[in-house]
Amino acid sequence: TVPVIAIDGPSASGKGTVAARVAAALGWHCLDSGSLYRIVALAGMRAGVALDDEAALAALAAALPASFADGRVLLDGVDVSAEIRSEACSVGASKVAVLPAVRAALLDRQRDYRAAPGLVAEGRDIGSVIFPDATLKIFLTASAESRAQRRYKQLMEKGMAANMESLLQDLQERDARDAARPVAPLKQLPDAVLLDTTTMDVEQAVSFVLERVPA
Ligand code: C5P
Repeated sequence: TVPVIAIDGPSASGKGTVAARVAAALGWHCLDSGSLYRIVALAGMRAGVALDDEAALAALAAALPASFADGRVLLDGVDVSAEIRSEACSVGASKVAVLPAVRAALLDRQRDYRAAPGLVAEGRDIGSVIFPDATLKIFLTASAESRAQRRYKQLMEKGMAANMESLLQDLQERDARDAARPVAPLKQLPDAVLLDTTTMDVEQAVSFVLERVPA
């Protein structure tokens, strides 16, 4: 079977960057599963659907006209890469992600990413639900303060408005929602390796994962 590295962890822990770098180093495919929940939230908001309307959002998720090309995310052929990273879409994604029918509608889409020579997938439930047979499972985390700090820096670099207090509060609210939901809650699995990047840079985190990939 095609090997999978599952990287799960809380918001803004640097999973996306680490997963992309590990995939590039190995020449494997990469799945940013959070972007799917972000696109569902964006499509829902655009269609005027309430973010707790499970049936309508699941229908949107099942027929999502989304595609990925050259690191860009397209919705209906339009580049929404920047928009899905906004705080509105971050909060929206964590709300639609609570709904079991939305999660179910995105299941096969995520599994389809498993292709030779291998896949690095990141999210919240990759090791528990999407690819429970993953070759290597990593629980990637960092303190809430350092995660908020990194997010703040990113927003500033993009010239976007940011406020440390509200970023930290948003992060903690999203973490709480991810951990408390009945379906596919975020938790460290017994068979996952803990990678705490609070005092690590990206290089160190990438090496940590690469050193643990079974030959
Ligand atoms: O990883 P990212 O922050 O982009 O994910 C956005 C939101 O989507 C998360 O806050 C989480 O609630 C949800 N999510 C999820 N399961 C995944 C990936 C993301 O519930 N596998």
